[in-house]
Formats: sequence, structure tokens, C-alpha cells
Amino acid sequence: MADWNPHIELIEGEIHKNFLREAYAYAWNHSHDATSKIGAVIVSHSLDEIIARGANHFPCGLNPTKEQIADRNWKYEHIIHAEPSAIFSAARNGKSTECAVIYLPWIPCTPCAKAIIDAGIKQLIGHKDMIMKTPEHWQQSTDYALKLLEKCGVKKFMYDGKIGGVENLFDGKLWYP
Ligand SMILES: [Zn+2]
Repeated sequence: MADWNPHIELIEGEIHKNFLREAYAYAWNHSHDATSKIGAVIVSHSLDEIIARGANHFPCGLNPTKEQIADRNWKYEHIIHAEPSAIFSAARNGKSTECAVIYLPWIPCTPCAKAIIDAGIKQLIGHKDMIMKTPEHWQQSTDYALKLLEKCGVKKFMYDGKIGGVENLFDGKLWYP
């Protein structure tokens, strides 16, 4: 873990911090995951409009029991990650994600990287403090997802600094981004 480095270019600016805060806040209020709350916000290419928000959650109408949620295998099988959640939300609302920017505090897994690529999203902005929390068992998938994004022309950046005004649950631990 200490040696792991995702090699993502840093980005500065209040606007990026604000959209990352939106992603954290949406995750806090809408994630169904009891251990890691992940959010995503899709913004237009010109950064002047929020196209969609998403959080890791179970499909609408599934209403799982507490026992099902607590069962890791059941959870992985049924949960929708934050990135497709935001893309689906855009689809439902008839908004194009072509050339959009996705604010995602964490790094996508490989299936989500594929979804981002094929949704036409061209830029991904994460949060360094959260990315560096990536558990060891996810690092390999994460490194592969980053390579895939690079190969398919999605630019990646990470914001280095405190977000403020939000709390988050990651890998079962509460922290203040
Ligand atoms: Zn994913």
C-alpha cells in the first residue's frame, strides 16, 4: 500500500473542489452501501452544468433486506457503482454525456472505466486523499482501469487538498475529506 502510486496528474482550482464536494455530499445522502459511500457527478465539458449525479446503490425497487446488504457476495452482485449510476441517471433524464467530465473522488474499477469510455466522457477528476486510501486488493484493478482510460483517450486528474464541509465512509471508516 505504501509503495502504490496511481501516477495521476494533479489539478488545482476551486471549481474542481466544489464538484468533488457535490460528489461526496451525494454519496453521503444516496449511497446504499453500509461500508463505502461513493459518489459521482457528471458535468458538461464547459463545466457550467451538472448533467447527472450518482452513488453506489441497489437498483430502484429491489429493496434488499439488512441481511442481504451485510452479505458481501450478495452486495457485489447487486450494487450499481456510482459511475454507471450517474450515466443511467443522465440517460433517464435525456441528457447527453458526450465530451463530459466526471468528478469521482475514487478511481473507477475496470467495468466502470469501460462505461465511462463508452458514455463519451473525456475527463475524470478524482480526489487524491481518497485515491490513496485504495485498499490493496483493489489496486491491481485500479491500475488496469487507469491504463484502459488512457488508451481510450480519457484524461485523468486528481485534486490534491482538503474538500471541507463533507464526511465520508470508506472501507468501514468515517473520515472528513
Ligand atoms: Zn465500478
